[in-house]
Amino acid sequence: MKPPVLRGILDGVGNTHLVELGGLLPRFGSRVFAKLEAFNPGGSVKDRSALSMLLGRIRSGELVPGRSTVVESSSGNLAIGIAQICRYYGIDFICVVDPKTTQQNLAILRAYRVAVEMVTETDPETRAYLPVRVRRVRELVASIPGAYWPNQYANPLNPLAHVQTMREIAEALDGRVDYLFCSTGTGGTMTGCAQYIREQGLATTLVGVDAMGSVLFGGPSAPRLLPGHGAAVKPALFDPSLADEVVLVSDLDCVVGCRTLTHREAILAGGSSGAVTAALTKTAGRIPAGSNCVMIFPDRGDRYLDTIYSDDWVRAHFGEVSHLWNEPEHTLAVGAC
Ligand code: PMP
Repeated sequence: MKPPVLRGILDGVGNTHLVELGGLLPRFGSRVFAKLEAFNPGGSVKDRSALSMLLGRIRSGELVPGRSTVVESSSGNLAIGIAQICRYYGIDFICVVDPKTTQQNLAILRAYRVAVEMVTETDPETRAYLPVRVRRVRELVASIPGAYWPNQYANPLNPLAHVQTMREIAEALDGRVDYLFCSTGTGGTMTGCAQYIREQGLATTLVGVDAMGSVLFGGPSAPRLLPGHGAAVKPALFDPSLADEVVLVSDLDCVVGCRTLTHREAILAGGSSGAVTAALTKTAGRIPAGSNCVMIFPDRGDRYLDTIYSDDWVRAHFGEVSHLWNEPEHTLAVGAC
C-alpha cells in the first residue's frame, strides 16, 4: 500500500500504533498490547479530545480565526493538543495551568504562542489547584468577547472522541479484547471506550486505573506527585460504574511501571502508562491464560525526564528503589530485528 500523504498535521490524530509487549511479563500466559497514544502529533491521547471539542465549532464558523479565543484549564496534554489546533487555525488560546505543570510542557505551550496563566493558590477546602483553575477560566470567559471554554470535564465531545480509540483497538484484534486497562483523569478515555464496548457487545473487562489520592472512584483527595491521571474533583460526566474493576496505583507504582517498560520493552512512556502497567502487573495473577490484555498508554516519557526518569528525583521521593525494575533475570521477546 502506498504511504499516505496527510493534508495537514491534524490529519495525523488517531490511528495510533498497537504494539504487542512480549517481554513485559515473560511468564504470563496471556498476550499484552499497548495502544501508544504518544504517536498522535501533539504526543498524547488528548489530541483526540481536543480535536473532537474544537473541530465542529471551527467548521461551523462559531470559532473564527483572529477573533475567537479558546480558554481551557489543563495539566498539559490537553493544552498541547488545543495549542496545536489553535495554532493551525490561527485562533488565540489562553491556557490556565498550575505549578504542577512541567517546565517542558510550559515551553511547548510558549512555542505554540499560547498565553499561559499560572494559578498559584490551592482551593482551601480540597487543597487542590483544579477548582482555582476553573474559577479563573470562568472569569476569563466572562470578560473576553468571543471566548470559548471547551470544558473537558463536562463536554460530551471529550468522551465521544474515544469511541474511536476503542474502535481502533477492537478492530486491530478482531474484537477480542478480554481486558482493557485505562487510566482516568476527566474519564473521557474510559467513558468513550466503555460506550464502544457496550454498543458492540464486546466481552471486555474494563479496568479503570486511578491514582491513589484521586477522588474519581470515591476515595479521599490526597496530594499526588505526578500530573496527568487522577482528579481532585469528580467531573460532571464521570460514571465510576462504567469500570468493571478498579485498581488504584501510587506514584511509586507509576515510576516502577515506567522504568520497567523502558527496561524490558524499550518504551519511554509517561506516568499514566506506568500506572496501567502497574495495574496489569497487580492483576496478572487472576487473568485467565490466553486472554488479550490491552493497555492504553496516554503519553510519552519525554515529558517526565525531570521526574520519573530522573534518578535524583526518584531517590528524593522514594529512596533507593532501583532494584524494583532492575532485576537481572528476564526474557525479552524475540523481535523481528
Ligand atoms: N494520562 C495522561 C498523561 C493525561 O494527560 C490524561 C488526561 N489528563 C489522562 C491520563 C486521563 O485521560 P482522561 O482525561 O481521558 O481520563
